[in-house]
Parts: sequence; structure tokens; C-alpha cells
Amino acid sequence: MNSLPRISVVGAGPAGFYAAQFLLKKLKRCEIDIYERLPVPFGLVRFGVAPDHPEVKNVENTFTKVAEHQNVRFLGNVCLGRDITVEELKKAYHIVILAYGAEKSRNLGIPGENLNNVISARRVVGWYNGVPWDKDLSIDLSMREVAIVGQGNVAIDVARILLTPIDDLKKTDITQHALEALSRSKVRTVYLIGRRGPLQAAFTIKELREMIKLKNCKTEWIADDFKDVSNVINSLPRPKKRISELMLRSATENLPGVCEKKFKPLFFRTPLEFIGKNQTVNKVKLGINILQGENEDIMNQKAVLTDLHETIDCGLAIISIGYKSTPIEESIEFDQNLGVLKNHYGKIRNGLYATGWVATGPSGVILNTMNNSFGVAELILKDIEKNPSLIQESKPGYDYAHSILSQRSIQVVSWRDWLKINEFEVNAGTKLGKPREKILDMEKMLDIASS
Ligand code: FAD
Ligand code: NAP
Repeated sequence: MNSLPRISVVGAGPAGFYAAQFLLKKLKRCEIDIYERLPVPFGLVRFGVAPDHPEVKNVENTFTKVAEHQNVRFLGNVCLGRDITVEELKKAYHIVILAYGAEKSRNLGIPGENLNNVISARRVVGWYNGVPWDKDLSIDLSMREVAIVGQGNVAIDVARILLTPIDDLKKTDITQHALEALSRSKVRTVYLIGRRGPLQAAFTIKELREMIKLKNCKTEWIADDFKDVSNVINSLPRPKKRISELMLRSATENLPGVCEKKFKPLFFRTPLEFIGKNQTVNKVKLGINILQGENEDIMNQKAVLTDLHETIDCGLAIISIGYKSTPIEESIEFDQNLGVLKNHYGKIRNGLYATGWVATGPSGVILNTMNNSFGVAELILKDIEKNPSLIQESKPGYDYAHSILSQRSIQVVSWRDWLKINEFEVNAGTKLGKPREKILDMEKMLDIASS
């Protein structure tokens, strides 16, 4: 008879929880331990999703049900690579699933990127969403113009947070320090700079519509950027057609009324240099591009620089060109080009798997991540079926991991401990009229956990 399958998942974000959920449903008997570096769960659902999109966070209810299942254990404040190794997890468990996401940012590699107030979107998001190490981010909002580089949904999230009326943000779980800084903000214009054209923009229609409808803010386009769009619009796949129609409509309609703030998408522009005064950015030089690859699928067309360029004022530049993952241990190969753990449909080698952004790269919404995790979990089940010896050897599971973590004096945060942190945050939020006020300090989280 097979022994009890013991499974460990590293990362308590969507990928980890969805993989656990699928395995729990299909395996009658199993033990699943979810390891998380932070004392709190949910990954980018807590630390990425914008505070004014609370409905997206409803997935936390699904993840809570998984965590509260009798065969599941949450081990927060345990960092793979620092507190425990993959090899140790392999000794303890039959199956190890790496789901530790993509927690660094890509940069442009151009002059001036290290000037003050040139900041990655990842850190700005961390600052308004309560990532402990981003709480002291130095961000100056005393200028009128901000340039955001990149045209994905993260760039749109950041633009919206900078331009939303402060009274609307007060009702969200945005951190109090960000709220205070934003209430003093002098920002009036946010540029959203894309190297390619409107047809290649990465943002999606719901997010764009929200920007166009934002109170007291006018979306301004450059009419010339759309000169080729009408010619191809009818041949586009439906989602591309709908968003292109929305952009065209918005670019041609002339809404009456005066708005205090402006949202200005700029296409066909590549940042060449951030220019500073007193070590702080005050302009960005943009090269003007054309698209190459007329016969290609439009999404594969490439931006090519011309000799033309322009310079725009910006006292804050935010780089939003994607997140990236990092290697964990030498023994586990990392594909530096793709920025993912080398894997084949999620399998790294026998008994070792990867899922979510660490396996696919930093793109896709929660639904895509869920589908990826379900697929990887299914592959694990097939591997067990084909090769029952994968789970035949008796493994010590949590007992072994626990002894290692105790020896290293790691304070493991259990699900019950997290519920104490959760209660504290919700109570602190209620006093401020917010759904929660996140704790920013790891020590404080650990104190509450052990209280
Ligand atoms: P993550 O969510 O990053 O989870 C990884 C987890 O692993 C984290 O909890 C992390 O702390 C933990 N971890 C990292 N290193 C270690 C380690 N060494 N040891 C142990 N644990 C570790 N999608 C939507 O559908 N709607 C949205 O509104 C939306 N907004 C987004 C906003 C932003 C700013 C970003 C970046 C993404 C957004 N997404 C949104 C996409 C969505 O967040 C991702 O699809 C999803 O979070 C990826 O899940 P993941 O589990 O792979 O990674
Ligand atoms: P993204 O969607 O991949 O967008 C990245 C943007 O950066 C693109 O416009 C890309 O342009 C640009 N870019 C990349 N490299 C560049 C370079 N060297 N120079 C100039 N521009 C460059 O990534 P993201 O915005 O980080 O979002 C990650 C994922 O999370 C996405 O799937 C997104 O939909 C999801 N998300 C969803 C929501 C939501 O549902 N509300 C919110 C936030 C995030 P090119 O196309 O030309 O490469």
C-alpha cells in the first residue's frame, strides 16, 4: 500500500493555493504543507491587486477554505533558500511544488535610471499596498507631471492611484502613509509611455474604461498615433477590436467641461535617458519609433527607433515594464532569458514541480494562474499514477521540517496566528473607516502572531 502522500507547496499566492486546492480535491488522502516567506498569506492578491479593486480580493475566501482544510497546514515566515532548502523539503515530502512568484522588477538599463524619483512600479505598488520593505520608499509627489514607462495593467493601476480623487481612496485598504502622501500630491498629468502603438498596448478594456471614466480626469490621446488603426480595425480579433474601438472613440470625442487632471497615453516612444537636476529626475528623453514587421501578426511587430526624439517634463518616473523571477538554489536550473525556473509543463524533475509566475513568467491574471496551477496539479497526479514509487517511500513530512525550523529558531506563523494578524488589521481599519489597515512591520506581525 502507498504511504500517505506528503506534499509541500512553497508560496502562498494564487499559484500555491490553487495547486493545493486541486490536489486536495483529487487525492482522498494526503497532507499538504504551504510554506510562505511572509507571516501573511495571499501573495500579490494582498500586495499587488490595487486597493480600489476589492472585488478581486474575494479569491482570498477560496484560499482560506483551502488553508482551513484538515489536511492542510500553513507555515508562514519561512523563507525557502534562507530557512529551509529544496533538498530538505525533498527529504521531508514526496512532492515539492515551487510557487514563489516573481518578486523583482525589470529595468530599462538607460542613463539616469538611478536618479532620485525614478522608481519601479513594483515598489510603488508595494508602498501603497503595504509590502513591509517598501514602507519607507522615498517618493516625491510635489511635481505636476509624472511619466510611467510601460502600458500594461500594472502601469494603469499606478496611474489610476495617482489620479483618483483622494476621498475615493480613503475607503480602500491603501496604506495610511500612501494616503497621506497622495492627499498632498501636486500631480496633475500622468503620461503612459509605450514603445509600440495602440494596437499593441498591453492594458485591457475594463482597466482602460475605468481610466476614461475617472472623475475629474481627462484622457488625452495624440490623434496621429491612431492614423493606421481605422484601416485594420475590422480585421482584428474581437477583444482587440473592442479595445481599439474604445480608444478611437475616446481619441475623437470632445467631452465638454474642465478637468483638473490629465491621463495621457503616448505611443511609439522609447525612453532613451532620464535627465536630472540636483540628482533628481526632471525630464525624460524619448526616441520616436516606427513599427517593423508589416506582414507579421500585429502583436509581433517590433518598435524601431527613428532619428527623431522629444523631451518631456517629469519630476517622477515610474518604470512598469514587468516583474521578474529569481533563481532559488544552484541545483535548480533557471532560464535567465525567460526569467523562470526551467520546467516542462511545470515539471522540473521527479517529485519537483513549479507553477504560477515562477514557472510561466510574470504575466497573466489570477484566472490564468489558476489554470496553470490546475494543469500542473493534474500532471502531478498523472506522474503518481504512472510511477507509484514516487509516493511509496515513507517520508517524515512536517515532523522533519519542524525539527529543522526549530533548530534554526524560526518562528513559524500558523494559520491561526495569521487570523490574529487579520483581526488586528481589520479592527485597525474599522477605526479609520477602511476595510483593513495593513501592518507594515514584520516584527509587529510576529508579535501579534505569538500573543
Ligand atoms: P504571487 O502572487 O507573487 O505569490 C508568490 C508567493 O510566494 C508570495 O506570497 C511570496 O511572498 C512567496 N514567496 C516568495 N519567495 C519565497 C520564498 N523564498 N520562500 C517562501 N515563499 C516565498 N490579476 C488579476 O486577476 N486581477 C488584478 O487586479 C491583478 N492585479 C495585479 C496587480 C499587480 C501589481 C500585479 C503585479 C499583478 C496583478 N495581477 C492581477 C496578477 C496576479 O497577481 C498574478 O496572476 C498572481 O498573483 C500570480 O500568482 P503566483 O502565486 O505565481 O505569485
Ligand atoms: P505586461 O502586461 O506584460 O506589460 C508590460 C509593458 O511593459 C508592456 O507595455 C510592454 O511593451 C512594456 N515593456 C516591456 N519591456 C519594455 C522595454 N524594455 N521598454 C519599454 N517598454 C517595455 O506586465 P504588467 O503590467 O507588469 O502586468 C503583469 C500581469 O499582471 C499582466 O498579465 C496583467 O494583465 C496582470 N495585471 C492585471 C491587472 C488587472 O486585471 N486589473 C492589474 C495589474 C496586473 P511591449 O508590449 O512592447 O513589450
